[in-house]
Amino acid sequence: MVERCDVLFENALLFDGTGSPPARCDVAVSGERIAAVLPKGETKGWRAEQNVDCSGLALAPGFIDAHTHDDRIVIDAPDMLPKISQGVTTVVAGNCGISLAPVTFDDDPPPPMNLLGGKEAYAFPAFADYAASLRRTPPAVNVAALVGHSALRLRTMADIRSKADRTEIAAMLGHVDEAMSNGAAGFSTGLFYPTNAAADRDEVSQIASRFAQHGGVYATHMRDEFDKVLDSIDETLKTASDAKIPVVVSHHKCAGPGNWGRTQQTLPVLETAAAKQPVNLDVYPYTAGSTNLRADLVSADYRIQITWSKPHPEATGRDLADIAKEWGCSLEEAARRLDPAGAIYFQMHEDDVRRVLSSRLAMIGSDGLPHDKHPHPRLWGTFPRVIGHYARDVGLFPIETAIHKMTGLTANVFRLKDRGLVKEGGCADLVLFDPQTIMDRATYESPLEPSAGIEQVYVNGCLSFQKGRGVIARRGRLVGGNSRA
Ligand SMILES: [Zn+2]
Repeated sequence: MVERCDVLFENALLFDGTGSPPARCDVAVSGERIAAVLPKGETKGWRAEQNVDCSGLALAPGFIDAHTHDDRIVIDAPDMLPKISQGVTTVVAGNCGISLAPVTFDDDPPPPMNLLGGKEAYAFPAFADYAASLRRTPPAVNVAALVGHSALRLRTMADIRSKADRTEIAAMLGHVDEAMSNGAAGFSTGLFYPTNAAADRDEVSQIASRFAQHGGVYATHMRDEFDKVLDSIDETLKTASDAKIPVVVSHHKCAGPGNWGRTQQTLPVLETAAAKQPVNLDVYPYTAGSTNLRADLVSADYRIQITWSKPHPEATGRDLADIAKEWGCSLEEAARRLDPAGAIYFQMHEDDVRRVLSSRLAMIGSDGLPHDKHPHPRLWGTFPRVIGHYARDVGLFPIETAIHKMTGLTANVFRLKDRGLVKEGGCADLVLFDPQTIMDRATYESPLEPSAGIEQVYVNGCLSFQKGRGVIARRGRLVGGNSRA
């Protein structure tokens, strides 16, 4: 009997996303799904429209970027080159309390909402409007969209400097129902940020609990990642447990030289809690973070590099210390003159980054900022860097573990049905890469360099990116939550 399929990957070194060691396999794809996964050569009777010789190459589930701010770039630049060129086939957007829907602005959006753009970017008063836009112009990658608490607060509250009152919370819950019934994947907070900071545990857990009723997940940029990081973890675990919702600690770090080494305290707390409640974390493979330039984050203790500045675009890519020296002023004064602006903060220790990456709770998330002029290199390099640098070259963990942290684990945590594993019946999101050469090339000096070693990327069964050709198709869709895929 002859079996037919659309694409047959032959003789691939298959990393299936479960974390198991790789095996030589053939993989058949029919339409949008994986039709068969068989030991090498057992597909001899299969007839395919297209055969892909995978000798010397590895095949894996498409990578899932657990932490992004891609809400707008999936609409404005739907080719999604920074991500698909890394092998990413799904992005989790709407992190850190910041989401494009459901909020609009009459004036410039306040920080950190301005990380996604100006008021013209915020054109989605309801989540359904955002979902419709993705359907009209599909991006090259799938999108799991969280709804940000700052977006909800700015939409419903008269004064965001206070805790939401009962009427305001009721209004937010209405938006939660609307978003979740139109395909949102869950909730995010950025309690560190001024637009979200006045929300206490009670406000957050009331809203999170409504997301939980709809099957949503909760990701949080915690109130403090510096001296009070343990208090913030305690708050996070209590909030999630009260709301009965799975929680993801965003871009886990212990920031500032005074806190270096403290992941030896934080990780055991999170790993112990994981026995009692669903908790995970995401992490990017770099010792620098990036967000708005803020006077309260300015310090002479670590390097600060400017990623954009509205009043001083010529400062882009330069170090704050050099600019301050040139201007003959303090770092704080220079930061004030550059504002509104973005910055990279070299505030973590390599040992902490490695400990967090190695945690069994850790998923890989780039946290890339796609609208920055001189972005943190994590935007273009995160996934190849984890595989090529940390797994293959440093030997921090096996490549199959690296892959699991960006596929099977992530799909499970964010409840992305039928994604994250190469298995029969699963969605055919796949990446073909060269395990010998895969590597990030973006640097702090030259951050827009595409990574090496990614050969082909398939999204929903369709060849969407090929080395040397670039983006070929855009077949992404809304995933997670109650979205139909
Ligand atoms: Zn964040």
